[in-house]
Amino acid sequence: MGNYGTIVFDLDGVLYVGDRAIPGAAAALRAVIAASITTVFATNNASRLPEEVATAIAGKLGVTVAADSIITSAMAAAEHLAGSVAAALVIGTPSLAIELERGGVATTVRADRADAVVVGLDPTLTYDALKAATLAIAAGARLVATNVDPTYPTAEGLIPGAGAIVAALERASGVAAEVCGKPNRPMLDAVSRRLGPGPVLVVGDRIDTDIDMGRAMGWSTALVMTGVTPPERAAAEDVDHLLESVADLPAVLGLDAEPGAAHAERATHLP
Ligand SMILES: [Mg+2]
Repeated sequence: MGNYGTIVFDLDGVLYVGDRAIPGAAAALRAVIAASITTVFATNNASRLPEEVATAIAGKLGVTVAADSIITSAMAAAEHLAGSVAAALVIGTPSLAIELERGGVATTVRADRADAVVVGLDPTLTYDALKAATLAIAAGARLVATNVDPTYPTAEGLIPGAGAIVAALERASGVAAEVCGKPNRPMLDAVSRRLGPGPVLVVGDRIDTDIDMGRAMGWSTALVMTGVTPPERAAAEDVDHLLESVADLPAVLGLDAEPGAAHAERATHLP
């Protein structure tokens, strides 16, 4: 079932949680790659550069993926802002600031010089940072959210996501953020440019980002229950495939679940 040309994978809660790979995720990913299906990795996590994400996937799953197959909401934010702002004040990791600069968005630590405030998950967030951002917004800077995911799945449980920080700034400023990540247009445009020919399947753990992106684009959807969506909520959702985990994906696609075995067999026929 489903002759998909491209599979768009979410990462956190789908392929891994924290440092722990979802059991069977590596085999599932290998099976998809072995079937020559185009893979795109679309994450609302703006805290890492694409090459850092590729390194994380390799470290956790032992699968090598190309950095240019990874789309982050930081990249979407850079594309959204390039050419329209002079300098952005960043609440987020150093990698978010680097990604913005790469995308042509100058950054500043001077709130009085910022005409945009760009927000991602910042594990070192301080009150002073919220204060500087609020003052910049009051002086006319745009409030731009890489994403508004309320939580972030970790081995310890769900911790505050970028959306929780954005909410603090929206509350303080009375300004609604421009949101770049899934399921919003900047991210949809960035992902759409990486697709191969044929039908698209998006695999995710969050309904209001991953699944809603698929719905907005007319793509097929697969919801996994290894992340933020509890099974009772998942069961009530209208999705094309409801999977306990991404490990069930090869069966849904009619693929060999152990491509390693297939490779070994093929290798014996090489001259
Ligand atoms: Mg996720």
